[in-house]
Amino acid sequence: MLKCRDVAHQASDYIDNNMRGWELFRFRLHLFICFYCRRFVRHVRITRDFVRSRPVPKASSAEIETVMKVVQQTRD
Ligand SMILES: [Zn+2]
Repeated sequence: MLKCRDVAHQASDYIDNNMRGWELFRFRLHLFICFYCRRFVRHVRITRDFVRSRPVPKASSAEIETVMKVVQQTRD
């Protein structure tokens, strides 16, 4: 039987559909009996979906140049 700690470590693999066979069965069995892990996995999934739905911010050339100047100044 998986422990809650195991579920926490494997939650991303489960959500990303990277589990098969016995491993998947054991994971789902634990979720069936454990309210806390069901809630945890649901929250991880919601967070992942939210982050993936956000556009990736893109910096302009001027912003990149400004950051690079600051980096070079701190190295000197
Ligand atoms: Zn649990």
